[in-house]
Amino acid sequence: MTNPISLPVLLPYPFKEPFDYEIPQYLDVKILVPGTLVIVPLGNRKEIGVIWQHHKLPKGLDFLTSSPKKFTKLKSILSILPLPPLPFVLLEFIDWVAAYTLSPSGSVLAIALRGVQTIMASKNHPRTGWMLSAQIPKITRNTPTREKVLTFLKDKKIPYTTQYLAKTLEVSAGVIQGLAKAGVIEEHNLPDTSLFLKPDLNFNVPQFSSEQQAAADFLCQKVIQQHYSTTLLQGVTGSGKTEVYMQAIAACVENNKQILVLLPEIALSTQWVERFEKRFGVRPALWHSDLTPKQRKQTWNAIIKNEVSVLVGARSALFLPFTNLGLIVVDEEHETSFKQEEGIIYHARDMAIVRARLSNCPAILVSATPSLETLMNAHHHKYDHLVLNSRHGGALMPDVQIVDLRITPPQRGLFLSPPLITATQQRLKKGEQVLFFLNRRGYAPLTLCRACGYRLECPHCSAWLVEHRNTQRLVCHHCDYFIPIPKECPHCNAPDSMVPIGPGIERITEEARSIFPDAKILVMSSDNLTSPKATAEAIRQIDQQEVNLIIGTQIVAKGWHFPFLTLVGVIDADLGLSGADLRASEKTLQLLHQVGGRAGREKSPGTVMLQSYLADHPVMSSLVKGDFDAFMLQEAAERQAGFWPPYGRLAAIIISADTNENATQIAFELGQYAPKQDGVIVLGPAPAPLALLRNRYRQRFLLRTQKHIAIQPILYQWLSCVKPKKTIKIDVDIDPVSF
Ligand code: ADP
Ligand code: ZN
Repeated sequence: MTNPISLPVLLPYPFKEPFDYEIPQYLDVKILVPGTLVIVPLGNRKEIGVIWQHHKLPKGLDFLTSSPKKFTKLKSILSILPLPPLPFVLLEFIDWVAAYTLSPSGSVLAIALRGVQTIMASKNHPRTGWMLSAQIPKITRNTPTREKVLTFLKDKKIPYTTQYLAKTLEVSAGVIQGLAKAGVIEEHNLPDTSLFLKPDLNFNVPQFSSEQQAAADFLCQKVIQQHYSTTLLQGVTGSGKTEVYMQAIAACVENNKQILVLLPEIALSTQWVERFEKRFGVRPALWHSDLTPKQRKQTWNAIIKNEVSVLVGARSALFLPFTNLGLIVVDEEHETSFKQEEGIIYHARDMAIVRARLSNCPAILVSATPSLETLMNAHHHKYDHLVLNSRHGGALMPDVQIVDLRITPPQRGLFLSPPLITATQQRLKKGEQVLFFLNRRGYAPLTLCRACGYRLECPHCSAWLVEHRNTQRLVCHHCDYFIPIPKECPHCNAPDSMVPIGPGIERITEEARSIFPDAKILVMSSDNLTSPKATAEAIRQIDQQEVNLIIGTQIVAKGWHFPFLTLVGVIDADLGLSGADLRASEKTLQLLHQVGGRAGREKSPGTVMLQSYLADHPVMSSLVKGDFDAFMLQEAAERQAGFWPPYGRLAAIIISADTNENATQIAFELGQYAPKQDGVIVLGPAPAPLALLRNRYRQRFLLRTQKHIAIQPILYQWLSCVKPKKTIKIDVDIDPVSF
């Protein structure tokens, strides 16, 4: 067989296909296996690319026929990066994600190469140092400097580098060389200098309850088998799910395999890392958007060299070059922040399962309030299902009460009801902590003119401007446009007529300060917790009881464990229920269940008070009864008839353009080619939710198919009917999280 003269190379740009590059004489074809990182010319730049090989994708995703694009005049590969090739499963995964999301493979590759070392590091010598020889020969010539070194090294149990000895003992490197030559000292490899130390599996092993033990055993068994499987680990808040899956992590480390843990938000990583450290004595590797470029490179390199055993990260960690993946955990799997909404639109939880399947390893989805999709998959036995019914250490589930605002309303213009105020006072007096939850940043979500009714709206988005009193601004939460808070109405010029409508957490904080003047208040929202460090500091203040009244947005609803928190007051339990989203009930139930789950996680029992005008709403009754699954199964039943997910497949097509005319025109054009086929329903075009976003006008189609019909080929064909235009963008969102 003759060697090929060229090979396909995929570049990390929005290209669907690899390009063909010639293999120069001086490169050995045999080492250019698929996955090899190479430098190639592109235009007059040099770029990193990857020797590609397309994979056969499963039915439904195999609609792209690809042959590498040939340059008329073949350009040559320039060099090979001194790194191991990207693992085969990663290449396969990239093709898979590209086909599933209808995105160019090159764009997906770009995510995977975030962190690749572009500048060649100096050659990696194993680091060594010096110790006294086991048998010290008689030295012919001793000197005071030699003596210094020997005295220092006497009894030392680990080696010391030449640099270290030279610097601290003020001797020359030559002295050390001389001693080595004489055989008095000998060279040893330094103990593991890797940034990422191996977890100590026996560092701190918890005593499991029998319920926890059974779950942990099941997961460990899955890890040992090393086949693809997905297990839903569902347990009430505080049941010890984290401890349980850490046991599976331990089993996987013991197996010498890599573990990926996905968290929905980097804010959560602080507490998670601490818990990991308590359990295993070392820190895991981290991957999120706040890493410095240097940390990113170090981590990426360590991953591809198989030097990391446990990595915890945000969704893009899925694209890291794990060579030896043995387990994927998706914690808080129901969180919508696992959905990447820009660029490549993908759901990290779903893609985690794909990655596990390709890697032939188990996946664990963890939640107290699983998404409807996951719960149904468990009920239909596509996933294994583990349930933890009781809280750790005998802690009770919180008592959930509705405060019916029609009966006990707050004082006029205020937002805290008398029952919540009384309960708060009692808890604070007992030295316990209270949390007020309101999922709204700022002071007031709407500002209007009392004289003419004019409402202040963002000029670039279909959204009201939100008052932020701390910064004296009205801000758009979609595009960050802001103006100073106006003194008079911009419309009718009436003086002092602008009034804030409704509460945000700044307003609740103001009210709480006046009602509970002695409370030590901590505000937690993305406005003041701008870094993992700031979040860590807030958590520390809570843990050490430096604060006793916490007022927060959804950031406090996450998996935190606050031992002294016993009362959760939900300021507006109805907030998520308005609006057209078919998932409104599901999402509200999950969110309120999670916030409520922060209460009473240790000795003192907790109470959750839901302030609501809709006391009879099924979501409220479900929260009071604590029958999450029953509510979700009822929801599912309602979706079945219309083939809404999880019973059908759904995709949103968002058309955005510089003018409304352009958007509607393209939408109309596309509408004419809409697929007509049994089992396929097209809704739209209609203005998208947020019909104007950052100056772009948006129209939307929803395409729904029955489960057995693959949605991607239909979309692919449909969208190729319209010619792309510069000013128009068409985004496809497969499995949208709101509909
Ligand atoms: P979940 O993730 O289900 O909300 P966690 O894993 O956060 O629950 O557990 C709640 C608290 O109980 C944590 O502080 C955790 O360390 C503790 N815990 C759970 N199980 C055990 C156990 N078997 N031994 C000791 N502490 C435990
Ligand atoms: Zn805006």
